Amino acid sequence: QTAIKISNLKKTYGEDVHALKGISFEVEEGDFVALLGPNGAGKSTTIGIICSLVNKSSGTVEVFGHSIDTELEAAKRCIGLVPQEYNFSQFETCRQIIVNQAGYYGIPRKEAMGRAEEVLKQLSLWEKRNTPSKDLSGGMKRRLMIARALVHQPKILILDEPTAGVDIEIRRSMWEFLTQLNQQGTTIVLTTHYLEEAEQLCRNITIINHGQIVKNTSMKALIAQL
Ligand code: ADP
Ligand code: ADP
Repeated sequence: QTAIKISNLKKTYGEDVHALKGISFEVEEGDFVALLGPNGAGKSTTIGIICSLVNKSSGTVEVFGHSIDTELEAAKRCIGLVPQEYNFSQFETCRQIIVNQAGYYGIPRKEAMGRAEEVLKQLSLWEKRNTPSKDLSGGMKRRLMIARALVHQPKILILDEPTAGVDIEIRRSMWEFLTQLNQQGTTIVLTTHYLEEAEQLCRNITIINHGQIVKNTSMKALIAQL
């Protein structure tokens, strides 16, 4: 099944910033895809549109067959997003943050508490469940963002520059976690400007530059060309 189908997607900010100039690509269920490109290429805009945080100018986006124009809620339920920046309320505890997120998806409280326990354990944050997010280390904050994105058990996890500015140890452990999650069946799409990260993790790669797709290929085929 096709997890994400994007056709002729365009985005213009204001009058004349043509961030996306009509991109098309598909992500198959179970895939692990990197959206690679330099700063300003259009990566964040693309995932912003897929997650309905940014309005598109034209084109279509389907998530597991659900058009974001006509079946937005169903499309959203399939996706967990890990944004680039931390955006937690500082004084809420790890568990509160996760339970609140579950609330946004209409998950009943009892189930939300269970889910929170599950994802906090999965991300090795259970010991920190009562710690306010401001007191977490950088690596823990990253893990909390992933835990939060997984609370509604999305079929697709989308991460915007997941390892930007983190040290090599944290990066390695995140790579390991994401690889496992993908092996368990979650489709993963991440943006990165590190070719090495894409190479380590991803099966397929879509390279974007100046709002256009310049390459869409398997990682293997790309490496063979280098
Ligand atoms: P990337 O994530 O690859 O760095 P972006 O999608 O953030 O690229 O940006 C693509 C282009 O759109 C850039 O030229 C950027 O300056 C512009 N852009 C992004 N967001 C906005 C915005 N909110 N308003 C105006 N221009 C924007
Ligand atoms: P406990 O005492 O068992 O750790 P709390 O009663 O402190 O749990 O609840 C944790 C947080 O989750 C609180 O901030 C509460 O307001 C919030 N919360 C509980 N249920 C929901 C829900 N269904 N949706 C959103 N937030 C919730």
